[in-house]
Amino acid sequence: MRLHILGANSAIPTSDRFSSCQCIDIGGDLSMIDCGEGAQINFTKYKLKRNKLNQIFISHLHGDHIYGLPGILSSFNLSNREKPLSIFGPVGIAPFIAAVMKYSYLDLRFELKVVEIQGEGGRIFENDRMSVFSFPLLHRVPTYGYRFTKKISKPKLDKAQVERYQLTVAQIKAVIEGEDVNLADGTIIKNEAITLSPVAPKSYAYCSDTIYHEAVIPHVQGVDLLYHEATYMDDMSVQAAERYHSTTIQAATIAQRADAKRLVIGHFSSRYKDVEPLVIEARTVFEATELADQGAVFEI
Ligand SMILES: [Zn+2]
Repeated sequence: MRLHILGANSAIPTSDRFSSCQCIDIGGDLSMIDCGEGAQINFTKYKLKRNKLNQIFISHLHGDHIYGLPGILSSFNLSNREKPLSIFGPVGIAPFIAAVMKYSYLDLRFELKVVEIQGEGGRIFENDRMSVFSFPLLHRVPTYGYRFTKKISKPKLDKAQVERYQLTVAQIKAVIEGEDVNLADGTIIKNEAITLSPVAPKSYAYCSDTIYHEAVIPHVQGVDLLYHEATYMDDMSVQAAERYHSTTIQAATIAQRADAKRLVIGHFSSRYKDVEPLVIEARTVFEATELADQGAVFEI
């Protein structure tokens, strides 16, 4: 599982800091998370493959999270995309995309599935590699966070045991399918005695944009990596609350209370020319904090 940061600035992009956009690569299946202006430029710049992008998850319908969508859809069409694409987002995402297509004469040649998330969210997507849960954040408009969980890999063969019992090809196939083995002498070898335990499922959660909102804690409990917006430093906590955003200390507090393993902060206000002080402040509460630097890659 690998997270690519394509943009992490708040409302107004700067010349070197684009609006919110990330891509998570789960076993070669790419999902985009938010799609701010310029998303496709950095998607190409950081050498991500268009034909591997299968899903886009939108947190909310503010421009700094969706204005990259028209460009991406148009470019996919011009490059003769054939693979289907799914877009998830709050209610309103479907008419927004429909209006873009209608008034810019965008006649898609690939299948586009748009899913509007309702109410409390929940499990919204699943394939053989991952499952995705959505949960409400608290912002000025309906906003969802997302938790991506990579599925547990199948148990791996313990080669030493395979040799010890001299298993046949047919028996090995059965073991991979989860079956026990019946040896010629009638002994039954349990599947777990011939396989190595699968690795625990890894997970990543995305929380942007939101006021400090403790109701998200159970949804991000124990994640390997948590992204939480930190638009402002702590001395701006009053303004942060008024604008339904969070501070560095609040993002770090959520990570600490949720027992996250690592935290990455982003959605920086363009008032900060240097964002290093934001991560320094967050680390006073949660040591394992990193900046969502554009182009950064996080292995999960
Ligand atoms: Zn925003």
